[in-house]
Amino acid sequence: MVRVRIAPSPTGLLHIGTVRTALYNYLFAKHEGGTMILRIEDTDKERSTKEYEKDIIDGLVKLGIAGDEGVHIPGDKGYRQSERTEAYTSDLKKLLEEDKAYYCFCSKERLEKMREDQTAKKLPPRYDGCCAGLDPAESRKKVDGGEKAVIRLRIPQDKEIKFDDVIRGETVFHSRELDDFVIARAIDDPLYNLTVVSDDHDMKITHVIRGEDHISNTPKQILIFEALGWDYPKYAHLPLILNEDKSKLSKRKNKVSIDDYLNEGYLPEALLNFLALLGWNTPDEQEIFSMEELIEKFTLDRVHKGGAVFDIKKLDWINGEYVKKAIKDDVDGFYETVLPFIDGKIPTDDPDLIKKILSDPDFEGRFKKLSEIPEELAPLFGEMPDYPLELLAREKFQITPEMLKTVLPKAKEVLGAVDWERGDSSKSQEISDKLVGIVGELGLKNGQVLWPIRVALSGLERSPNFATLAVYLGKEECARRLDIALEKVV
Ligand code: GLU
Repeated sequence: MVRVRIAPSPTGLLHIGTVRTALYNYLFAKHEGGTMILRIEDTDKERSTKEYEKDIIDGLVKLGIAGDEGVHIPGDKGYRQSERTEAYTSDLKKLLEEDKAYYCFCSKERLEKMREDQTAKKLPPRYDGCCAGLDPAESRKKVDGGEKAVIRLRIPQDKEIKFDDVIRGETVFHSRELDDFVIARAIDDPLYNLTVVSDDHDMKITHVIRGEDHISNTPKQILIFEALGWDYPKYAHLPLILNEDKSKLSKRKNKVSIDDYLNEGYLPEALLNFLALLGWNTPDEQEIFSMEELIEKFTLDRVHKGGAVFDIKKLDWINGEYVKKAIKDDVDGFYETVLPFIDGKIPTDDPDLIKKILSDPDFEGRFKKLSEIPEELAPLFGEMPDYPLELLAREKFQITPEMLKTVLPKAKEVLGAVDWERGDSSKSQEISDKLVGIVGELGLKNGQVLWPIRVALSGLERSPNFATLAVYLGKEECARRLDIALEKVV
């Protein structure tokens, strides 16, 4: 029975890397019909906060990938490391009793001096085993008498530590590369590697799926498992997420907190789709997946070994595809999602008008992020930007101010003769035909007529086409905007 876990430390806001790790755990668990656990690794009391913990839990729950057991399930207890001190103390006692670990009384100064000497000799910094030979009973007495001591794991000498990483294949470390590392600051103050092992054992974790940055912890954890006489889980280390320049994903080059992406108007499903592809693909290179499809198709053997570049353009594209689909499937629901992004930026007193614009084929594919929607819709509401005469009288199309003096009044006249309600796209063709008709009537070129009309209606170099603008601006506003253009000519 597969049991996996996501085990974030609450030392920062929910990070994009944590979301990807959670997603892979979730997909693997669901694909295998197993269980996923959300536990909080808050042993680092100085850096852990309740605010970060809440942000992480809420975020994973909101994204729907928090799993089946853990801190987010009401009534579930013991999924926070701060709630499990007794279990850790009992494991530490066992290790001490069996002489698999020992108390170390070395002072900070001594350890620092040792490290300096080693560095000067170009040796890797290692604990020299000074306290490894102390009599355990004596040590115990000293500690009971109040003397401070850390607890170190006794590392077997000359031992290969091999594991078959599900993604990276056989991975070998040697005990020579390790020293007797500290597993607790005191009997009731365990450190990270001990707590993870204790949790993974007690929670019956079968697969540890986590970022590659943890790979150097794996041999240490395996040794702790062995010292405690337990089997260890299978390990799968996920490739790092990289900035475009191939450096490790960093705040300086990319946003890393998931809220930043949601606040910018990426849809949660699109983000998950994008993150699923950050280090995994299907043989046919499919790009868009429903959650059901991801669950059905996700296997660890297709996770890449090499780093995964965070390509924001791809995220934008995927999000655009999800936006298109959301508009087609349920424009009312989509409008509710968009509302916080447009409120206060464009008038929302006529939701139906906005829904019509969002669904208009001429706007299809224009919206990548929800935060861009107000800007895209702005030409259809309120005041136009002030624009220069040269924009109307585009040299490229050989448009002269004289021409504009005929074209613009003609456009006003033609539009005045069509009857339409603002937003009635069924009139689009008629409006278009009438405006195009001016070209023949005045014996001008297409661009000489349609360019200035479009600019007059939008005030912009680029905008939706003239007929779409007219439909959604409404008759009166079109007349007003054509007048503004005309004023620039006379
Ligand atoms: N607490 C660790 C982190 O937030 C995860 C450790 C693990 O998955 O084993 O990076």
